[in-house]
Amino acid sequence: MARSGKAGATRRFLEFLRRRRLRLTGQRRVIMDVVFGTDRHFTADELLAWSRRRDRSVSRATVYRTLLLLTQSGLVRELDVGRGCVVYDPNYAHHPHHHHLICQDCQRIVEFESEAFSRLEDEVSRRLGFTVVARRLQLTGTCDALRTRGECPHRSRGRRVG
Ligand SMILES: [Zn+2]
Ligand SMILES: [Zn+2]
Repeated sequence: MARSGKAGATRRFLEFLRRRRLRLTGQRRVIMDVVFGTDRHFTADELLAWSRRRDRSVSRATVYRTLLLLTQSGLVRELDVGRGCVVYDPNYAHHPHHHHLICQDCQRIVEFESEAFSRLEDEVSRRLGFTVVARRLQLTGTCDALRTRGECPHRSRGRRVG
């Protein structure tokens, strides 16, 4: 999805840190910039590798601590994509209503938004007397490439997460 609104996500995270009286250290800034500079879902190891490309002193512990803060802020969400693989999703800051299709073979993740689902959410919550504050729709399947050609181009490129 689009990378627009990076500045907005950064501002909101800085506000979150300020409310908790936490400082933005140099390492945290590097990690934050990497996270809000991508629209890919990533693993903690990938984030560590990307951050170290910018600043070799970034530690694994700081990556994990910063990821925890980012998820607590609601700007990044953890996504369980199956087979024990957890990825982080930086796209909720700009697209709070998006959902995921996940290929169980190549673990490619496709994001989508659906007006039909939003209408269903409205209808169900009104009928049952709820105000929805968070939503999570995750569809797992197999991508067409694998079914029709017996292989998935996503997997053959060697990328495990999208
Ligand atoms: Zn997503
Ligand atoms: Zn696939």
